[in-house]
Amino acid sequence: MIRIRNLHKTYTMGKNVLHVLKGIDLSIEQGEMVSIMGSSGSGKSTLLNVIGLLDAYGDGEYFLNDVLIKNLSESRSAHLRSRFFGFVFQAFNLISFKSALENVALPLYYQNISRKKRNRIALEYMEKMGIRDWAGHMPNELSGGQQQRVAIARAMISQPKVILADEPTGALDTETSYEVMDLFQKINAIGVTVVIVTHEHDIAARTGRTINLKDGTILSQG
Ligand code: ADP
Ligand code: MG
Repeated sequence: MIRIRNLHKTYTMGKNVLHVLKGIDLSIEQGEMVSIMGSSGSGKSTLLNVIGLLDAYGDGEYFLNDVLIKNLSESRSAHLRSRFFGFVFQAFNLISFKSALENVALPLYYQNISRKKRNRIALEYMEKMGIRDWAGHMPNELSGGQQQRVAIARAMISQPKVILADEPTGALDTETSYEVMDLFQKINAIGVTVVIVTHEHDIAARTGRTINLKDGTILSQG
């Protein structure tokens, strides 16, 4: 599903060129659950953002379901992005002045689905994530684990083929981290591909294989 060949990415700041991804070769099959590990600054988030069509790359090739991702228009990449990917972040990224339910339902708003229908569907997803009782609460009334479940429900509501999670347990205690990982495993068990960036070995150990990044190159990939 994801096929990357000799991919490079640089950031240019004035006269300085920072070579962040240096010839990445990587394949991820549909239905896999993989982790990406590496120290801070090794290029994990950059790689995840390239995979999720949030960022462009330089040399090399990226095929998503055999479609070459190169020089796509913003509307084409937005379309592919919303069809393929759900995103989860370390800091949850919930909208603070909207209820948990409204946060989960938000992606459906952009699909022009009626409020009644989107609230019904959002409640179903909150039920699946074990947070239905918190639907009417505001994000600041929820624990970190509950907020991350809201964020995962929001990512799942548009039925993505791939969940991309950037250090999703980075702000959680160990027990809550494992609960969130249980949830990702359940999501993976229904056929969704899951890619998790982490720097915690015990989190990586709960995925099917680990891709190790160092200074923008892959050291090993399970
Ligand atoms: P990681 O997620 O592994 O910590 P990142 O992918 O965030 O690493 O960053 C890799 C390198 O690229 C770092 O040196 C970082 O400072 C740099 N970098 C990341 N994003 C940008 C950006 N938008 N502009 C310039 N440099 C960036
Ligand atoms: Mg990062």
